[in-house]
Amino acid sequence: MPELPEVEVVRHGLDVWVSGRTIESAEVLHPRAVRRQEGVLPDQLKGRRVESADRRGKYLWLPLDDGAALMAHLGMSGQMLMLPKGAPDEKHLRVRVTFADDGPEMRFVDQRTFGHLMVTPLGISGGRTVPEPIVHIAPDPLEEAFDEKAFTAALKKRQTGIKRAILDQSLISGVGNIYADEALWRAKLHWARATETLTAPKISELLAAARAVMTEALGQGGTSFDSLYVNVNGESGYFDRSLSVYGRRDEPCPRCGTPIRRDAFMNRSSYSCPTCQPRPRNGRW
Ligand SMILES: [Zn+2]
Repeated sequence: MPELPEVEVVRHGLDVWVSGRTIESAEVLHPRAVRRQEGVLPDQLKGRRVESADRRGKYLWLPLDDGAALMAHLGMSGQMLMLPKGAPDEKHLRVRVTFADDGPEMRFVDQRTFGHLMVTPLGISGGRTVPEPIVHIAPDPLEEAFDEKAFTAALKKRQTGIKRAILDQSLISGVGNIYADEALWRAKLHWARATETLTAPKISELLAAARAVMTEALGQGGTSFDSLYVNVNGESGYFDRSLSVYGRRDEPCPRCGTPIRRDAFMNRSSYSCPTCQPRPRNGRW
């Protein structure tokens, strides 16, 4: 599933390719991809000018000149592609948006249809304008609106394991399984460490690690954990080569050489170094 850096790569591409353009038409090829808006979405988009491309966590949106926004969540396999008019349709093409100029069209392609597009009003959250359906989602660590003090206080009250906490989008958004494991490894924290036992400086170190790893991933076009994640030009990122622990079971820890362990975690996996990230005595699983 794309995480924050991968979504940011797509956002940046959309900002470059669709900002300032006027929508000519929208064609819905699969109703599930627009959450039952197939009857209204084309009319809501026709004639609207796209102002920019914005993002919080894993949500993307295009603010429109009438005060609404076209919001996208890529789900497991969603792609936002820019293609010349007339290029052959992708097998899993769900929504096509054309523009009044002769430039490339925007296509939402989604093999597994867990992603979606929707037109929505905007609301205010964390000092920013965001789509109404996501006003309850906390700022992500790369946002200026991210409040480290408030996050630290909320985290210590949570009484859960640190990984479970940083995956909770109401506390901090945009951190998924991959970058959680990488940030915890960098900060030398076991994933089950009880949040109430963490000091403010340690939480600050973890946040800095999360920001650093996601910023590095952005610089490499994101992580291509599967062939479906691509930028708006259909190209994959290559940060997977730079991952320290995620997906590296039994490979040596880049810091100390101990083989990386894999634990089952919330129907997924947690990768960590048994030496750098020892199991806490009173962990919260
Ligand atoms: Zn290690």
